[in-house]
Amino acid sequence: MENDFLSNLKCPICQNIFINPFIAGCCSNTFCVSCIGNSSKCPLCKKTSGFTPNRIVNNMIDTLPYACACGRNILRKDRASHEAECEKLMKSCTKCNFVGNLNDRIEHMLTNHSEVLISYYSEVV
Ligand SMILES: [Zn+2]
Ligand SMILES: [Zn+2]
Ligand SMILES: [Zn+2]
Ligand SMILES: [Zn+2]
Repeated sequence: MENDFLSNLKCPICQNIFINPFIAGCCSNTFCVSCIGNSSKCPLCKKTSGFTPNRIVNNMIDTLPYACACGRNILRKDRASHEAECEKLMKSCTKCNFVGNLNDRIEHMLTNHSEVLISYYSEVV
């Protein structure tokens, strides 16, 4: 049941869950906007076709759970806002191209950019 539901939300071209789903006028199949590409041809039946945004599928994808790296299950539509403040998510250092989670970044800051922290703490303390 669950699998059937999910398979309806998967693109027949890339086999992933749709990103910006559009429905083809020719065969009523849905594809990601990137799988349609710049051509006006349907990726399955190769006919020139019109595409309209598939809002129903898009709304269903928005309410799918998304498991973040921190272990929390969130809704896909909340992913961007959660990731902005997630402590476990890997992000890059604002000073160099080091990548790590919040704790890693603090550790990294202490060893590599201590001058930034010293000026920060001297303001706070
Ligand atoms: Zn696709
Ligand atoms: Zn088609
Ligand atoms: Zn998270
Ligand atoms: Zn750094």
